[in-house]
Amino acid sequence: MSGEELIRRGVIENFAFPGKLVEEIPYGSGHINDTFRLVFETEQGRRRYILQRMNKSIFHKPVELMENIVGVTSWLRKKILANGGDADRETLNIIHARDGRPYYLDRADDYWRAYLFIEGASCYDKVENKEDFYQSAVAFGHFQGMLSDYPAETLHETIVNFHNTASRLEDFKAAVERDTCGYAGSVQREIRFVLERENLAHVLGELQAEKKLPLRVTHNDTKLNNIMIDDKTGRAICVIDLDTVMPGLAVNDFGDSIRFGASTADEDEKDLSKVSCDMELFELYTKGFVEGCAGSLTDKELDMLPIGAMVMTYECGMRFLADYLDGDIYFKTHREGHNLDRCRTQFKLVADMEKKLSAMNAIVDKYR
Ligand code: ATP
Ligand code: MG
Ligand code: MG
Repeated sequence: MSGEELIRRGVIENFAFPGKLVEEIPYGSGHINDTFRLVFETEQGRRRYILQRMNKSIFHKPVELMENIVGVTSWLRKKILANGGDADRETLNIIHARDGRPYYLDRADDYWRAYLFIEGASCYDKVENKEDFYQSAVAFGHFQGMLSDYPAETLHETIVNFHNTASRLEDFKAAVERDTCGYAGSVQREIRFVLERENLAHVLGELQAEKKLPLRVTHNDTKLNNIMIDDKTGRAICVIDLDTVMPGLAVNDFGDSIRFGASTADEDEKDLSKVSCDMELFELYTKGFVEGCAGSLTDKELDMLPIGAMVMTYECGMRFLADYLDGDIYFKTHREGHNLDRCRTQFKLVADMEKKLSAMNAIVDKYR
């Protein structure tokens, strides 16, 4: 047994798992945490669990993060049970440590947590077909809908100002000012693109401050591989990976999904003629999300869905550009000018969405 495995066994003993451990393997294709699947033999048969070592270089507030997950998953569990659903499969369920806490802190200062394994369902890394994208829309919409009466203000902001676009704009301006690598002169066009659209950085924050957009529980990592799809029905049954659950705006989750899911090209495509917002995908996601939300979105939230997509894309583009100017210190890069290529795809998308705004609004109107 490897030293690592021995350590894990020590960790495993500190959780209230029933029965005898018979298997323990690295699991899944997550990039952030270290994930393991555990199998226990009990009198009622085999039981599987997920064990995760949380990434401490990314999550600096693990206790608050777990408090958010406890709050949201226990809320979901109650709702699912009240609706006659299968609460062991339709939400994550935390297995507590033996000391009653929702995590275990080991001697190396690593935080560990465990969940029931969601049986009979799979996670897909790549959107293979339109149905996958639609299913993820329904799932994240449903998540939003079930948590629409959750007191979002009680959640911790575990990553401060995550989608505060105005503060991201300030960070961007500071990066231009610093011009650490001396690149600013050569990307004037891109810098201007940001500055000409400052209103985009403020519109959502202002509506929120005026209480025209409600504070919601947001997921903030709405990728296809953060939902589980039932192996028999092909339908999304559960939203997982709740590390970035925070208070925010419903349009943020929607917008970010459109940003990366409805683009016709990769985020770092160099040939910008290939980059646009696919309206068929936009429509599919809008339909699924609105259906999933099941009437819980306000009129203003529905009105702002297309703008949300634009703002999330604009914000992401300016973060790529700021990182390029700073010398690629935040986003991992794999080639020269990678962050610049990424910012250009985002700005191309924003420009395309500007042209398509009325068509996008018409689509929202069709499903509201
Ligand atoms: P990401 O790179 O998406 O941020 P991550 O490192 O945060 O991933 P998770 O998404 O939490 O990790 O989990 C990694 C994988 O483990 C998931 O994609 C899924 O395949 C599997 N998984 C996680 N939780 C469960 C569960 N409760 N039941 C079954 N499989 C699970
Ligand atoms: Mg994940
Ligand atoms: Mg994750």
